[in-house]
Amino acid sequence: MIDEGAITFDAKGVFFNPRMKLNRDIGAAMVKALGITEYLDGLSASGIRGLRVAREADVKKVILNDIRPAAYRCILRNIARNEPINCEASCCNANVLMHERHFEAVDLDPFGSPSPFLSAASRSALSYLFITATDTAPLCGAHLKSGIRKYMALPVKTEYHREMGARILLGLAARELARLDKAMEPLLTHATEHYVRTYLRVLEGAKIADRCLEKIGYIEHCFTCGRFRSLTEPKAELCTICKGHTVLAGPLWLGEIQDIRTIDQAVFLVDEENKSARKLLDVCRNEVDSPMYYDHHRLCRRLGITPKKVDQLVEALRDSGWKASRTHFTGVGIKTDAGVEDVEEILRLP
Ligand code: SAM
Repeated sequence: MIDEGAITFDAKGVFFNPRMKLNRDIGAAMVKALGITEYLDGLSASGIRGLRVAREADVKKVILNDIRPAAYRCILRNIARNEPINCEASCCNANVLMHERHFEAVDLDPFGSPSPFLSAASRSALSYLFITATDTAPLCGAHLKSGIRKYMALPVKTEYHREMGARILLGLAARELARLDKAMEPLLTHATEHYVRTYLRVLEGAKIADRCLEKIGYIEHCFTCGRFRSLTEPKAELCTICKGHTVLAGPLWLGEIQDIRTIDQAVFLVDEENKSARKLLDVCRNEVDSPMYYDHHRLCRRLGITPKKVDQLVEALRDSGWKASRTHFTGVGIKTDAGVEDVEEILRLP
């Protein structure tokens, strides 16, 4: 028997990863913050994610679905064990279920890539779509061909590969939704350990879908000097700083990835003792919300100087009038609207 959050359950013969607890802790807080009343846990295994949402976020109707009969039986046991609880079990192919029925909120937590489920989930989700992706190698550019197949985009492996992965995933979600005249607003996005997780508000309408697609674009990266910039057209040019050849990543999401108001509500609802969830949400909330980041150590290596504390660099950039923050993507990352040459100038100061 396992205890997690407000639920006691078993995971006999089904998938269960205790290291995903943080993901589920934040999931339950986000569902509560958003006041969701109907929630599909489409790839449920033991049902733990949806059971926690039903109990901790007080959702009126939660559907726990898994294609495997062994998982279905496990879900039934876990519902019975936690009665009374607003959960029903289902044993369907999630793609069939999501094509047949609409749900206020749809949550995808597959093995590996969510890509095979995104089309049906985009159709099914009326107001919210939550996605976990554990295929970080294809998303970040380490497995290029798989990344292209799964995400219909070209990821490039750079120092900001974790955010590259998040934005490649978001780019596919925006395009899948747009095909159905739907738009998305990311509320919270984080890359933790081996996975990317995003919480999207879904909105209906051709015009907002068009506006949403305007936030899809490309990142032009220069491997010689480390400069990167956002582009709306897929046109790589020579680097404006060092004249080196550049590479293009995309199409990917260039819009905001965090919503401060929603994150504040979620922080308020997370257990006070849950330091890791609070810390992660706090850093996400305070990030400069523009694409990509610099790797402090890599910049210092290039300049042949010893790195100071990341916070010192953040302060120095702010003192010079730039926006700057740390990032949850990596402890040595700096998000800023300053260009690489401006950051280097500050790094060279005594
Ligand atoms: N959400 C679970 C948790 O938090 O513990 C973990 C889910 S596990 C990573 C993925 C589950 O998806 C497996 O139990 C698998 O049987 C199920 N699955 C795979 N393909 C499916 C499909 N087409 N329809 C429904 N379930 C599917």
